[in-house]
Amino acid sequence: MVKTFAVIGDPIEHSLSPSIHNAAFKALNLDCTYIAYRIPRGELKEGIESLRQIKIAGFNVTIPHKIEMMQYLDDISPECKMIGATNTVSNDNGKFTGYNTDMDGFLEPIKKRNIGISGESVLVLGSGGAARAIVAGFAKEKAKKITISNRTLQKAQALSEFASSLGAEADYIKLQNVDVSKYKFVINATSVGLKNEPSPIPTGAINANHVVYDIIYMPMNTDLIQQSKKNSATIIYGYEMLLGQAALAFQIWHRVQAPYEAMKKVLLGGF
Ligand code: NAP
Repeated sequence: MVKTFAVIGDPIEHSLSPSIHNAAFKALNLDCTYIAYRIPRGELKEGIESLRQIKIAGFNVTIPHKIEMMQYLDDISPECKMIGATNTVSNDNGKFTGYNTDMDGFLEPIKKRNIGISGESVLVLGSGGAARAIVAGFAKEKAKKITISNRTLQKAQALSEFASSLGAEADYIKLQNVDVSKYKFVINATSVGLKNEPSPIPTGAINANHVVYDIIYMPMNTDLIQQSKKNSATIIYGYEMLLGQAALAFQIWHRVQAPYEAMKKVLLGGF
């Protein structure tokens, strides 16, 4: 019997997850399919019921359901519990287990490049759902200090308190007060750049010692990335996080190594 997987969220029509997972099924000859399923805010309970009816094998969760989905889980992985949000759910004979692959999916491209995090200073721009998983990742990897900057300062404060609760040294500052020279890692987890806007921070002081990671994946070359490249920084692209979290979700569901290159090829072809 064909196993069905899905990504739920709203909006969902531009999600790249179906292409990535279906390419992986094809590469490994798996009798599976993966669909995008729009569930509007306020309709999660009913949406999940329909997924149960079709005996969904597993699903990804995206905006706006990552936190609300937690109450419908029967079991929760340690990362999922720590972050307080789920992006990956498995269904074992009706038992829903929640995972969060955003954190390790974010860390994966850093580890792949053998860049150490322990003892380094980090600047995270943004304080939404993605920034929360990223901050948890840097706390887990024992960054020296995590500074959070955000348009809405109260949210940056709340996120820095979350980082402290995980045992990290953390503070928060206004976007206008950012001084990149203090950090090794500069992470853009805001949505600034999605519409080709200028970088959310000045890039003049970025240099070859910086690692600049913009989690926006479309466009691939945001203004922040373009400027940082000119200044010889190490660049990490948003699509790498997207692939990292998808590969980890794949491994949770199928218990085999994800065909990373096939997934990457279809993703880059889609841009
Ligand atoms: P979110 O919860 O809606 O958070 C959006 C963040 O962007 C908030 O911090 C918000 O600040 C900030 N922001 C929005 N417009 C801004 C503006 N004009 N000026 C300054 N700051 C602004 O979204 P999210 O889920 O964290 O996702 C954030 C971005 O990451 C999105 O672009 C998404 O596509 C991308 N993402 C990528 C991956 C990946 O795998 N590569 C995974 C998840 C998300 P306020 O708090 O002030 O509103």
